[in-house]
Amino acid sequence: MSLTGGCHCGAIRYQVAGEPMTHALCHCGDCRRSAGAPMVGWTMYPADAVKVTQGTPKVYASSTNGRRHFCAACGTGLFYTNEVVLPGIIDIQSATTDDPGAIPPQAHVQVAERIAWMDRAHELPKFERYPPMAS
Ligand SMILES: [Zn+2]
Ligand SMILES: [Zn+2]
Repeated sequence: MSLTGGCHCGAIRYQVAGEPMTHALCHCGDCRRSAGAPMVGWTMYPADAVKVTQGTPKVYASSTNGRRHFCAACGTGLFYTNEVVLPGIIDIQSATTDDPGAIPPQAHVQVAERIAWMDRAHELPKFERYPPMAS
């Protein structure tokens, strides 16, 4: 299996070969603050499975050993690495793949830090686009 993906502006493109080790939805505070989103999906691969084919991500030290790789032009978060906790591993921010529906997530992780209301987010009313506007 081969996947491609990239950032919002297109400056950075990457290619991935093989199957992911896992796909998890992370609720930790670092992911939340870094992405500006209530949770972040991550597919995990051996580091050599991922090749950046265009551009160079900027690297930000988001914790002592955690490194977040993002596009400096548009801000999209792309990869996470941690040579101490996850040596030889790269996590890809899964919604940056060109076909984000291809690999379903398998677990919620770091739920200890989850925003309390996320527990029932799937019960909220759903609209194909937006709720009807009051007039
Ligand atoms: Zn970009
Ligand atoms: Zn996280």
